[in-house]
Amino acid sequence: LVSREIYPHDTVIEVGNTPVGGDRFAIMAGPCAIESYDQLLETAKQVKAAGATVLRGGAFKPRTSPYSFQGLGLEGLKIMEQVGKEVGMDTITEIMDVNDLDDVARYTSAFQIGARNMQNYTLLKAVGETKHPVLLKRGLSATIEELLLAAEYIVATGNPNVMICERGIRTFETATRNTLDLNAVAFIKEKSHLPVIVDPSHGTGVRTLVGPMAKAGVACGADGLIIESHRNPRESVSDAAQALSADDFSQLMQQLIPFIKAS
Ligand code: PEP
Ligand code: MN
Repeated sequence: LVSREIYPHDTVIEVGNTPVGGDRFAIMAGPCAIESYDQLLETAKQVKAAGATVLRGGAFKPRTSPYSFQGLGLEGLKIMEQVGKEVGMDTITEIMDVNDLDDVARYTSAFQIGARNMQNYTLLKAVGETKHPVLLKRGLSATIEELLLAAEYIVATGNPNVMICERGIRTFETATRNTLDLNAVAFIKEKSHLPVIVDPSHGTGVRTLVGPMAKAGVACGADGLIIESHRNPRESVSDAAQALSADDFSQLMQQLIPFIKAS
């Protein structure tokens, strides 16, 4: 069902009021984690002013260490709804547990399935039973075929509103956090009609590399970008090394405008 052989035309997905896919390019941005109402509000205003229309931010965080900040949970979802309304942005947040499905769907415009859950088939089927848009992130060591089959799970269960996200994979290279696989973007655009979003933040893990790889993502045919930005990057409770300041984010958006199809 996700194959272009079956549906040759680009699928356009509505994330709230933001169309993603076809000739519409989407910018999703915000902090890695929702830390407080003030933090999310300030960051939302900054990224919206720079051109983002979808606000990202995790309420449930899949941290490598159990001692790291795990997210504000339900309170974070409520903050996100409030800030989204106040600033006039659509919203996206990660869902980690089937039990949170109703809350996440109610308070936000789209589900994000994180890299660590790409093959959580119970979760894929659960979001497949809704019509809520889903951003499916590529697993840490998942092949493109595994990624497309994970997307197939969601669509086959009944939800056609799937966006695929390339966020870097594990390779022998350790100079950067992950290796952003831009082959995958061009390859998936050829094989599938679903929109493809590039995440240069997790793809590199390095603030100064986010801009160059965002541009590269646009150049190879992505339908959108998801970028981490923080009002005070050095104080970000998670993924501080890859967070862009408001100024850096705004400058990047200015540089990208000539290259993106529409927004
Ligand atoms: C995130 O978007 O903050 C995140 C945890 O991403 P990933 O699942 O790609 O690691
Ligand atoms: Mn992150």
